[in-house]
Order: sequence, then structure tokens, then C-alpha cells
Amino acid sequence: MRPKTLQAYKRTLHTYHVGFGLREPYQILVDGDFCKEALTQKIYIKDSLPEIMQAPTKLMVTECTIHELQSKGREFTNAMIVAKRFEHRRCAHKTPVKSAACISEIIGSTNQYHYCVASQDKKLRSHLRSVPGVPLLHIKKNLVILEPMSNESKEALKRHEIEKTLPMGKEASLLKGIGRAAGIIKDEEPKEKKTKKALKKKGPNPLSVKKKKKQQTTPKEATNEKKKSEEAQNKNDTTELSQGQKRKRDEEKSTSVPEATSSATAEATVATEVTEKAENAENAGGDKKRRRRKKKKTGQEEASETNVETTAEKA
Ligand SMILES: [Zn+2]
Repeated sequence: MRPKTLQAYKRTLHTYHVGFGLREPYQILVDGDFCKEALTQKIYIKDSLPEIMQAPTKLMVTECTIHELQSKGREFTNAMIVAKRFEHRRCAHKTPVKSAACISEIIGSTNQYHYCVASQDKKLRSHLRSVPGVPLLHIKKNLVILEPMSNESKEALKRHEIEKTLPMGKEASLLKGIGRAAGIIKDEEPKEKKTKKALKKKGPNPLSVKKKKKQQTTPKEATNEKKKSEEAQNKNDTTELSQGQKRKRDEEKSTSVPEATSSATAEATVATEVTEKAENAENAGGDKKRRRRKKKKTGQEEASETNVETTAEKA
């Protein structure tokens, strides 16, 4: 191993230690495939891993990985023998699961037990890169490689550093108190006062006023509002109508009013005609009678005159 790469590994491990609390001896969960690859590349894991980590290590294997190696057959028997020498890490699986699933479950989303993972499974490693603070190891050709820190863990570190700079709990309250005493923080108190004043202005005693006013005022207000709304609608109608529409409406009005009046007048004329006819008829009857009477009178007069004439002649 080159000294430069070793220095780089030391730096990354130091950042893991500072940022995520990884400590010596480093706990390394070893995969079955990693053991197999180490055997094929003739890498003695117990020596090489502490050399790369530059610190004492605790190599661990889950029950599920051992079970998987057993199930894979003769090719993996040597790997199983190597793995069995490592410390057994108990898992919650009564029926054994795939070693990758078991390891990812132990790591979880936070890696609260500060494990490193040595695995040849690419999927598992890509998944564990999303979890911040998990150092990953794998064998490439005849070398054990410590992966550089993933972007997720870098971002988590940045967030953590920012959080560190912010005042926490007692510090924050103390700072606020100092700020108020010095007169730097003034915004909070006047705002509260303003809000109180605004509330006072709005309603002096809403509980006592509400019920009475609602019953009395609501119908009046409702009528007023109705009137207002009607007026507004009329206004809107007049305003909204174009000149042509206005003309049409005027024409309609002019025609409609005479129609109504003409119908009334027609009825009146009919009635008058009827009465006139009746009167005429009556008058006609009267005239006839009068004429008859006149005729009679004239006859009588003539007769009387003739009588007078006759008497005068006789005399
Ligand atoms: Zn398990």
C-alpha cells in the first residue's frame, strides 16, 4: 500500500471519527463474498484490514451471512471457515435472510452502532452510500480499498457543522436576554403591544354586544343591502348595456306602454259605444213616442181649430 493512499485513508477516517463518532477499534461487518474474494486474492483479512484502517479492528459476521455461505455449497466452505472465526453479530432474523439485506437492516438509516462494512456486493454498497457515516471497504484486484466519503455523508457533515455554530438551548435564551438588556432586540415587545391595541380597537366587549346587535341590525342591514344590491344591479345593467341595446329597450318600453293603455282604452270605448247605442235606442224610442204625441196633439189642435172654424162659420 502506498503511503499517499494510506494518508488519504487516515484523513477520511479522521473525518468519520469527528463527524460521525467512529472510534477504535473499528467494527467491520464482513460479507461472505468479501471473504471468498480475499481467499482467491490471497489476502489475509485479519492483517490487511487493521493495516488499511491504521488502527485495531473488530471483524464481525452476522448469522445470516454464515447461513448464506453454508447454503452456497463447497465452493464457499473455505470462506465460511474464515467467516466463522470472526465475531458473531446477532441479528433479529429467526429465519435467515440474504446477508446483504441483513447488513443493511443492521446499519439502518443512521448507522447508530458506528459500523464499517466490507462487502463485494455493489448494490449493497450503493445503498449504504445513501446512509451518512458508513465507511465502505471492498477488494479490487489484490488490494483492499477504503472508499472515499460519499456525497450524502459530506452533506450530512456540512449540516452538522452549521448546527454546531448555532446557539443551543440555554445559550440561545442567554443571548436573547443579553440582547434585550443591551437594547439590540426590541422587535418582539412592541409587536405584542400593537397586537393588543389592535384587538382593543376592534371590539370593546364583543360578548355583550354580539347577540343584541345581531337580532336588531341584521334585518335592517339585510333590507339596506338588498336595496343597495338592486340599485347596483340596475346601475350595472344601464352601464353594461351598449347604446344599441339601450335603444332597443327604449323602443320596447315605448311600444309596451301604449299597448297597455290602448287595450284599456279599447275596453273603455267598447263600453261607451254600448252605452251610446243603448241611449240612442232609448232616445229613438222616446222620439217615436214624442212624434206620436206631437202627431196626436197636432191632430187634436187641427180638429179643435176646425171645430172653432165650424162654430165660427155657424155663428
Ligand atoms: Zn440476519
